[in-house]
Amino acid sequence: MTQNIQREEDIKALVDGLNFKEKVDRALSLIGNAYDAFGARLVVAHSLGKDSCVVWDLAKRISPHIKGFIVATRFWPETTRQFMRETVERYPELKIFENDEALPDDLHQGDPDRCCEILKVVPTREAIEELNVGCWVTGLRCTEGRTRTDFKEIEERDIGLVKLNPILLFKEREIWQYLALYKVDTNPLYKMGYRSLGCGPCSQISTDDNERAGRWVGTSKCGGECGIHTRPLKRDYQI
Ligand code: SF4
Repeated sequence: MTQNIQREEDIKALVDGLNFKEKVDRALSLIGNAYDAFGARLVVAHSLGKDSCVVWDLAKRISPHIKGFIVATRFWPETTRQFMRETVERYPELKIFENDEALPDDLHQGDPDRCCEILKVVPTREAIEELNVGCWVTGLRCTEGRTRTDFKEIEERDIGLVKLNPILLFKEREIWQYLALYKVDTNPLYKMGYRSLGCGPCSQISTDDNERAGRWVGTSKCGGECGIHTRPLKRDYQI
């Protein structure tokens, strides 16, 4: 599978230039081509957020055999845990990874980067290694916020690990359009007004233009990233 060369302006033109169906067809084609190339080594990273629900549904349309993993944390709201149980009951091919090592309860306030590294990035590395992933599929979108504008649909940030972002071009509205039209279940927390979900202490309801503005409010990480899209993921990397 060859890495495509996409410039930020090309991506922006596609975000505004393609219609909903063209974006869905493009995403299906990206996943289908990657599945042809990687087979069982193509694995979906399912965060249980709305974007992951779209990617998972698209992947299941390509093949019911495609597997996935969920990185859960001890700080997830019970509603998200319940949604995870229901999702895994329906799709047992989703494997849960969770780091239960001890850490200070308030680490997320004092050092959220470290907290995310331990609870999110480390188990993601474990998943990639244990599942022998050659290509991981994410729900990342370039219009979600300031930290997501420089990604490509096909990337290889870690050598030997392809990252596929098949819904990179979808706008927030098109995500909800897909979920409604294809009747895909979502986390009930969205009904309360959340637009971007994560751990309970680090997620707030926000009406800001930036979709991720409710994440890590009051810290230097506000509206930012947990690290799975920005940190090295191959296990030979030492923290
Ligand atoms: S989102 Fe917050 S609680 Fe969750 S791992 Fe990151 S810093 Fe810790």
